[in-house]
Amino acid sequence: MSAIDDLPPLREVIAAHGLSARKALGQNFLLDLNLTAKIARAAGDLSGADVLEIGPGPGGLTRGLLAEGARKVLAVEKDARCLPALRQIVEAYPGRLEVLQGDALELDPLAHLNPPIKVVANLPYNVGTELLVRWLTPRTWPPVWQSLTLMFQKEVAQRIVAQPGGKAYGRLAVLAQWRCDARVVMELPPEAFTPPPKVRSAVVHLTALPEPRYPADADTLGKVVAAAFNQRRKMLRSSLKGLSPDIETLLQNAGIAPTSRAEEVSVEKFCALARQLAP
Ligand code: SAM
Repeated sequence: MSAIDDLPPLREVIAAHGLSARKALGQNFLLDLNLTAKIARAAGDLSGADVLEIGPGPGGLTRGLLAEGARKVLAVEKDARCLPALRQIVEAYPGRLEVLQGDALELDPLAHLNPPIKVVANLPYNVGTELLVRWLTPRTWPPVWQSLTLMFQKEVAQRIVAQPGGKAYGRLAVLAQWRCDARVVMELPPEAFTPPPKVRSAVVHLTALPEPRYPADADTLGKVVAAAFNQRRKMLRSSLKGLSPDIETLLQNAGIAPTSRAEEVSVEKFCALARQLAP
């Protein structure tokens, strides 16, 4: 018997269903159920919440989420080979686990869930950042989800929580910190995964703020930040000149020296600039 349920150990599940890891699908599995339970707990109280999990694979984290009391888990998995393994979990937790086979980038799984919704996932590295940006950039705020608890490569996790002044600070930090509280809650060495990836990993927990930290139009802020960090070595008066003929004045009004570089500018000041550029 495993630590958290009556299902077979994950190594047996993987062997029984021939789930050899595929690199193209970012498959680095977590087989230690104590660890998956710990990640599930990092998402806070799951009882009464619907949980979206992207990429359940053989189901280690899925089992953690259910054992920790999630009202319902919707798991979206691209690899059809995982479905029989996941079916065993569906049967062990009647009515609480739904599995959708498909590409998380093409489906809109959040539409299948009822609030409060938490997203918890050991994300495939190849689509993790794209999914995070989508979750962070809905047109209206607050979003349908309450929190995101996500495993990334450590370097990506550092970019999400980075403060101005360093190399890690960029578009992800601004988008995440503008409308969320974001912190790294766990770090994992490569050996925690099967097969081990080349780099360390970290879990980031993001909580949606009831309203953005500073007022700004989401599309305009997105454009400003994309232009600023696309040419991060340039001075802002040059990298942003396409946004307005009067960009030097607008930068100054926002309290930003036109000669500064993107990585020196706080989220608050980017918002002050975006407010002047809003349509
Ligand atoms: N959750 C499992 C665990 O922690 O052991 C597996 C995590 S593994 C890092 C990423 C999982 O995402 C794999 O099962 C992979 O097949 C799946 N995946 C990859 N790309 C996907 C996509 N576009 N949509 C949905 N699932 C995807």
